[in-house]
Amino acid sequence: MNKYRVGIIGATGMVGQRFVSLLDNHPWFDVTVLAASSRSAGNKYSDAVAGRWSLPTPLPVPVKDIVVLDATADFRRISENADFVFSAVDMKKEDIKVFEEALAKAECPVVSNNSANRGAPDVPMIIPEVNPEHMELIEHQRRRLGTKRGFIAVKSNCSIQSYVPALHPLRDKFGLTRALVCTYQSISGAGKTFETWPEMTDNVIPYIGGEEEKSEKEPLFIWGTVSDGKILPADDINITSQCIRVPVTDGHMAAVFMSFAKKPDITEIKNIWRQYKGLAQELDLPSAPKQFLHYFEENDRPQTRLDRELEGGMAVSLGRLRTDSQYDYKFIGLSHNTVRGAAGGAILTAELLCAKGFI
Ligand code: NAP
Repeated sequence: MNKYRVGIIGATGMVGQRFVSLLDNHPWFDVTVLAASSRSAGNKYSDAVAGRWSLPTPLPVPVKDIVVLDATADFRRISENADFVFSAVDMKKEDIKVFEEALAKAECPVVSNNSANRGAPDVPMIIPEVNPEHMELIEHQRRRLGTKRGFIAVKSNCSIQSYVPALHPLRDKFGLTRALVCTYQSISGAGKTFETWPEMTDNVIPYIGGEEEKSEKEPLFIWGTVSDGKILPADDINITSQCIRVPVTDGHMAAVFMSFAKKPDITEIKNIWRQYKGLAQELDLPSAPKQFLHYFEENDRPQTRLDRELEGGMAVSLGRLRTDSQYDYKFIGLSHNTVRGAAGGAILTAELLCAKGFI
């Protein structure tokens, strides 16, 4: 099989490094383009990340000598040398919007980790196991952009990956009416390590800019329906949240409370979680976890350090399901924010888009 040529924009950052690492030896994708800011451009990738490679695994050999391009100035070279790109840049929202749309218009599909294009009515925000049907927006978006191949698809915010996958199969069956979520989010979610953010050692910060709004609104898009080429957000659920930064390297945990129109029993919920399979599993996509939702019976699981790497960081871990005095039930969820919540989730989305002929 001929592999797809893939570009990574923002390749030197926390999420970009994850992409580089996860795409090493990928069966369908070959990294041919790495791009970042003008600060990194012109350097070999190994030099551009020297002293800031943040992963425990070594820098993959095939990318070491690739010369990093300037995402803006080398725009043409990017679109000509990649069949599609992953985007994970830290730029102003307005600049990201213009940049990603320009790539799409140059017939280079973009699978983006950035929030800039989330919420646009014809841009699909996909969790492959949850709402693959939103891919149908792409044809409408292409008509708006005037493209044949180019389009933008986005990944949702990392925080919601710890609870939306668990709520989804229950919502379908029992009518989820309201949810309350408190997230405990790692420092890599801000693109940081303890070296670059020493203030986080022995500390908790009760504020993450913009995160609560995303945690409450994005699930409604994920559960939205497609009508006339646009996404209509779900309006039958109330979600409220608090998002807190905690001193862990990777892994976002969520404490979740939920109520239903038709209250299921605990055994039913656990069985549904254990048996749940999405399109990613049915198609046996290379990055799909075999078991999407893992339920732990132990009272002290899931734990961030023990469980975030489950199935290569692509599975979602759940535990402590029990009744609540205000809501029907409560539970704990955990997912790896830079894998399932960022690079891994985007790679799985790209695999789905390839398998279904959109790329
Ligand atoms: P990061 O570590 O700060 O990396 C930012 C990247 O953007 C670097 O490659 C940087 O290149 C590049 N960049 C900065 N300014 C640029 C410019 N003007 N033109 C081109 N490239 C530029 O950030 P991150 O944590 O990887 O996050 C990247 C994006 O993914 C953000 O939008 C973030 O919200 C999103 N995201 C992050 C997570 C997570 O868990 N961290 C999860 C989901 C989504 P230089 O090295 O050359 O400066």
